[in-house]
Amino acid sequence: KDTTIVDWVTGSNKGIGFGIVKDLCKKFDGVVYLTSRDESRGKAAVEILQKSGLNPQFHQLDISDEGSVKNFVDYLKTSYGGVDVVVNNAAFAFKNDATEPFHVQAKETLKVNYFDTKNFCNAIFPILRPHGRVVNVSSSLGHLSYINGKEPNASNLKNKLSSPSLTENDLDELMNDFISSAKKGDWSEKGWPNSTYSLSKVGLSALTRIQQRNFDADSREDLIVNSCHPGYVDTDMTSHKGILTIEEGAVCPVYLALLPPNVKEPKGAYLWRDTTIVDW
Ligand code: NDP
Repeated sequence: KDTTIVDWVTGSNKGIGFGIVKDLCKKFDGVVYLTSRDESRGKAAVEILQKSGLNPQFHQLDISDEGSVKNFVDYLKTSYGGVDVVVNNAAFAFKNDATEPFHVQAKETLKVNYFDTKNFCNAIFPILRPHGRVVNVSSSLGHLSYINGKEPNASNLKNKLSSPSLTENDLDELMNDFISSAKKGDWSEKGWPNSTYSLSKVGLSALTRIQQRNFDADSREDLIVNSCHPGYVDTDMTSHKGILTIEEGAVCPVYLALLPPNVKEPKGAYLWRDTTIVDW
């Protein structure tokens, strides 16, 4: 190979992200980066994998910190000249018994899972190499049908979110509309759902479709992005109620990360944990 093939996973010190790194270390023919916002948690996770004979690299990365994102992107550019696979796994969810007001939960959840993830993509996409693969870890709750507030407004929102001409700016505006109606108290009236997490993942899956359209118009060959539901997994996020192991949760993200060159599909699609394409 004339270039080092580089793959990296956000929020991979634990949970599904850790499972994804583990499997990629076995299957991916290149350098795999485990990243974590907390350096000591990340390095401890790398050590666990090293003890089982795997060899991930580590870099600090907090997708909510512009400086950290810039630092990592610059590092990748300088060290490798580009990146081949990006797995957007990092996310946040309030617990069911959280006491923060709904509008605070709306703002914080959308910030990490939608806006920060999107900003991170926009920082890293310029250094994606041809045949680059991007995986956005969404959720079953990221299916469009979860836009289930009052009708006919919910249907109008679904039409907007699934429109083939939706732009990133339009989508930002819709996400911000949810945040401001959460503050006003009329989100349900306007058609929005009662789950801020669900909306953040609907936003991510909608973003995926826009990103693929942008990739299709890009001069770099064969760039592909998809979003997926990893399954209901036993992690901190689910308070360990999930029924799948992190290895099982990694199956679809790893499949999408390793899509062979020039596949016809999936592209800009939404997939279930068993790798089937689901009509979004
Ligand atoms: P965990 O809460 O176990 O892990 C989340 C990871 O994301 C942690 O490494 C966390 O870091 C990191 N993270 C959070 N915020 C940031 C940030 N701003 N910058 C960098 N890293 C961050 O979650 P899961 O493993 O369960 O979830 C992984 C993905 O799968 C998420 O996108 C989630 O929404 C999705 N998902 C999970 C399901 C499940 O059943 N578990 C079901 C459907 C989707 P730290 O340790 O520092 O907090």
